[in-house]
Amino acid sequence: MVKVHPDLPKLPLRERAWQWLQWYGVRVTVKSPHSTRGGGLWWNEKKLVELETAQEEAAIHELAHAWWEERRKEVAVRTTFSQMVTRLSQETDPRYRRAQELAYVYEHGDPNTGFKGMFLEDGTIIDWEQYAGLASGIMGHPERLPEYIRGFYTELFDYEG
Ligand SMILES: [Zn+2]
Repeated sequence: MVKVHPDLPKLPLRERAWQWLQWYGVRVTVKSPHSTRGGGLWWNEKKLVELETAQEEAAIHELAHAWWEERRKEVAVRTTFSQMVTRLSQETDPRYRRAQELAYVYEHGDPNTGFKGMFLEDGTIIDWEQYAGLASGIMGHPERLPEYIRGFYTELFDYEG
């Protein structure tokens, strides 16, 4: 657990991961510290995690974007990750139901919201939102993911495996 900003609760990040993020140049700002409504952005060029409020879920999501920025540059890493998201979308183990449901929507979209799935018009997989979306979907708890995809999160988040 680390305190990444005085206005945020402690987050389930590994100390070493937070040290790396700081070394990489990541800064965190919180616009409305007394609200937890949510919202935020990761500005990759500025290496800035800009949070609208002090909501933990948004902080986890945007910090996951910051973490994934370098890792996804390795094609094999992001390709394997997205393949594991596809596998997760078909997971039948009830322990991983929440993560499976998220992955299913990433794969197939959601007719109720009009969301078309994590793909650009040209078919490019939006792996960065898959990664950050699952990170906040599990609230930084890798044990909420099956083993074949868990390893993508165990360096970033606290995990005793
Ligand atoms: Zn995002």
